Amino acid sequence: MDFTVLTLFPELVREASGHSIFKRGLDQGLLNLHCVNIRDFAANKHNRADDYPYGGGCGMVMKAQPVYDAYRHARQRLGADRPPRVIFLTPAGRRLDQTIVQDLAREEALILLCGHYEGIDERVVEEIVTDEISIGDYILTGGELAALVLMDAVARLVPGVLGKEASFKDESFSANLLEYPQYTRPSEVLGRHVPDILLSGDHKAIDRWRGEQARIRTEARRPDLLG
Ligand code: SAM
Repeated sequence: MDFTVLTLFPELVREASGHSIFKRGLDQGLLNLHCVNIRDFAANKHNRADDYPYGGGCGMVMKAQPVYDAYRHARQRLGADRPPRVIFLTPAGRRLDQTIVQDLAREEALILLCGHYEGIDERVVEEIVTDEISIGDYILTGGELAALVLMDAVARLVPGVLGKEASFKDESFSANLLEYPQYTRPSEVLGRHVPDILLSGDHKAIDRWRGEQARIRTEARRPDLLG
């Protein structure tokens, strides 16, 4: 999976991606991350990538031209026959969920566009963006953290990134259920014991118990998932 992030803060994205499983995916060549600094494409003396909003109001708006030129640069590098999906991280987008993540993980390359200030001139959004995605009903300072959330969720579905032992089938949201509770050693902690069934060695009974727990937890916490 090849990620290109169009951003005013490439270091933020690079630094946060240099850890744990995402870093291992990069090191193994299963993931590729390319950050494009939109400011490098600002065709004016002071590299200004923002300007005052038409119609007045507070805050600044990211200019269309540097965003468009950064996008053209990213497209040239990818050289793809099929244009890659371009995702604008925005609170006005579709709310990210595991179904969208699974859909995006089928792509070979994604371009992620991060806004800042009051947002981005709508004309370049209309021109280049294929998907608008929000990571939740709250306002962040910029799209970088949202892009990192999306990339993390997509990357772990790329074959090999989590390693051979990984199983997605029981994870929360995989069957519209939250995952059952997990335990590890020791068998007693803070006066609390691991449920006996997990020590029984009876794998069929354990599977049944886990299924029941997933349903109980989903009914209690996220009944909306059950439809
Ligand atoms: N004025 C915008 C509005 O009210 O919708 C908010 C702009 S926000 C301060 C700056 C940038 O942060 C946005 O352009 C977007 O890229 C990113 N952002 C903020 N909240 C987000 C969210 N919940 N999901 C995804 N991106 C978000």
